[in-house]
Amino acid sequence: MPELPEVEALAADLRERVVGHRIQRVDIAAISALKTFDPPPSALHGQEITGAGRFGKFLDIVVGDLHLVIHLARAGWLHYRDAITATPLKPGKGPIALRVRLDDGAGFDLTEQGTQKKLAAYLVRDPASVPGVAKLGPDALTTDAETFAARIRGRRGQLKGVLTDQEVLAGIGNAYSDEIIHRARLSPFAITDRLTDEQMAALYAATQEELKDAVARSVGQQAASLKGEKRSGMAVHARTGMPCPVCGETIREVSFADSSLQYCPRCQTGGKPLADRRMSKLLR
Ligand SMILES: [Zn+2]
Repeated sequence: MPELPEVEALAADLRERVVGHRIQRVDIAAISALKTFDPPPSALHGQEITGAGRFGKFLDIVVGDLHLVIHLARAGWLHYRDAITATPLKPGKGPIALRVRLDDGAGFDLTEQGTQKKLAAYLVRDPASVPGVAKLGPDALTTDAETFAARIRGRRGQLKGVLTDQEVLAGIGNAYSDEIIHRARLSPFAITDRLTDEQMAALYAATQEELKDAVARSVGQQAASLKGEKRSGMAVHARTGMPCPVCGETIREVSFADSSLQYCPRCQTGGKPLADRRMSKLLR
């Protein structure tokens, strides 16, 4: 799933390539992806793209007075194309959800792989009218240490869950939370309102370092290569069974119904493996 650094890089890429160009037409291939009906997509036709940014993990493409706000969900991505065919896109079952053709013949596709269709696009006058955007907490990349601590302690729960709660802090998902918690040498199951000041300071520093490093790695890369770039910078995420780059211990995982987390027992949990319900079921 694209998280803050990848969405930041996609926005930077769009600022470079498409800002200043006019939209010739917008085709919606996956009707369910467009969550708004007023204004209609045709309101974008002939309009100039004036900016690109993000709100947490939401991408914001500014077109005059309008915002095309996109949540890429788990398997969504944006592909810039130097040349896009003039033939209108046919609604269907392919990976393309939405296509934007520009006045210079270039454009971009929003795609979503797999059968779970969760990509969401909103065409709005005010980004705050997008429900997910209105509820976002402060941005994880720009929040100060005091606000950060107050937000984390203010939502009692396991650290992994709280750090990825977009209403607490915006931008961190499953992959970067694994990395941040490892860098801070904390347990993913640490209870947030019991973190010491020292642990909180380590968590804040790790969040800043991890996200800034990832943005620096991602921005300037071609959007198409971002996913690989994200993987290659990871210490524990999706590296179950491999050695921890800090201490050499084998990285372990905990599985949930539809996700998993990875951690290093030596760096993070005093050498003790965390309970994994799936593993205990298999061993029973
Ligand atoms: Zn380690």
